[in-house]
Amino acid sequence: MSLSNEIAVIVGAGHAGAELVASLRQNAYSGRIILIGDESELPYRRPPLSKTYLSGAASRESLLIRNAGAYDKLQVECWTGTQVLAIDRVNKNILLNDGRTQPYTKLVLATGGRPRKLVEPQAQKPNVHYIRTLADIDHLQTDFAAGKHLLVIGGGYIGLEAASVGIQSGLRVTVLEAAPRVLARVAAPQISAFYERAHRARGVDVRTGMSVQAFHGEQQVDSVSLSDGSQLSVDLIVVGIGILPNDELARAAGLEVDNGIVVDAYAQTRDPDIFAVGDCAQHVNGFLSRRLRIESVPSAQEQARTAAHSICAKRVPHAAVPWFWSDQFDLKLQMVGLSQGYEQLVVRGDPETESFSAFYLLDGIVLSVDAINRPQDFMVAKRLVAEQVRVDARELADESISLKSLLPAG
Ligand code: FAD
Repeated sequence: MSLSNEIAVIVGAGHAGAELVASLRQNAYSGRIILIGDESELPYRRPPLSKTYLSGAASRESLLIRNAGAYDKLQVECWTGTQVLAIDRVNKNILLNDGRTQPYTKLVLATGGRPRKLVEPQAQKPNVHYIRTLADIDHLQTDFAAGKHLLVIGGGYIGLEAASVGIQSGLRVTVLEAAPRVLARVAAPQISAFYERAHRARGVDVRTGMSVQAFHGEQQVDSVSLSDGSQLSVDLIVVGIGILPNDELARAAGLEVDNGIVVDAYAQTRDPDIFAVGDCAQHVNGFLSRRLRIESVPSAQEQARTAAHSICAKRVPHAAVPWFWSDQFDLKLQMVGLSQGYEQLVVRGDPETESFSAFYLLDGIVLSVDAINRPQDFMVAKRLVAEQVRVDARELADESISLKSLLPAG
């Protein structure tokens, strides 16, 4: 294919960037495509970082979203190890860290996020780890050894996944969560209670309503003081207290930023030639009828497809139902929808069996579902949420009634 004079530049070679370049070609984009990433790798899958890659079950190569040859076939130039420092919107070019400038016709910001860090000077030590990149895990693995005491700060998905790999790798693990329960931001109290029980049953010391007051140690953090006045000896710490969107480039370029780069349902900023997608984007989701920022692979990919459509003048608003998953021990959690604002939780199956689903209802309508070791429920749940089905709570809880039969006919 001979290329036109158009140039699409994508800043950020992660999940969204990788999806976008393929989607542009699928939509017959005929210009030059340049994918720029500041990590040294081609785009790779991040979810295994706190799961199979940390445990050693997945190889580095298996993480790649596609290999170099596939980008060649797509006629996509991948500039890895290259950071974009600034956007010049007037002249429509970007400044790179090697001093070059690169013009664009369309620019997509797919810059993701970075871990929120502890601010205490005493916590700035090499055995205090964060999990976002392959390099982070390579560094963590130098400390991650059987018999060591791992302290996880933060009982969100990443912290709990790291805790589960820790136990399975023979470490002693303590999880501290400042809120009264783990997963407090994203799950119902019953789901939090289930995960606390499951972790404790497998040997994790889960302490909720507890935080670190002080870090101690010279070269490394070797102990911490907790909010209840006790001391804990530690060998290594993993911090999982959320991420911050990488929206500084956009802010400096005068684009609107509000906990992420503000875009419309077409992934477009107020500058018609600049788009933002993925973890860095404060976007409009037509299905949810609101603006929000979501940190999930399926959402990053959907937004990337939306931006590709917009760039190829096939405007299709973003209206995908968000979904997500988390693997801890032998527990596969799959979630669909957003539970915010729910008024009733219906549990189908017995949590004691570690195979059940929780349905979040508002006025009888299924807002979201958490399915634990229930892939079949999850398939139906996706439709119940997408089609905003009104259900009878008693039928939903009754396992003698098939879930499928609750879907609208036809
Ligand atoms: P990213 O994948 O973060 O990619 C952004 C890239 O842009 C990065 O490489 C960054 O370094 C680069 N960049 C930033 N600024 C610049 C610049 N100025 N110049 C050049 N490059 C730049 N989601 C799920 O759905 N399920 C899961 O189970 C799950 N598990 C996860 C486990 C871990 C450990 C982590 C960290 C995330 C997990 N997620 C999971 C979230 C998911 O990985 C993210 O939502 C997804 O990676 C977002 O993709 P993105 O392309 O927006 O950002």
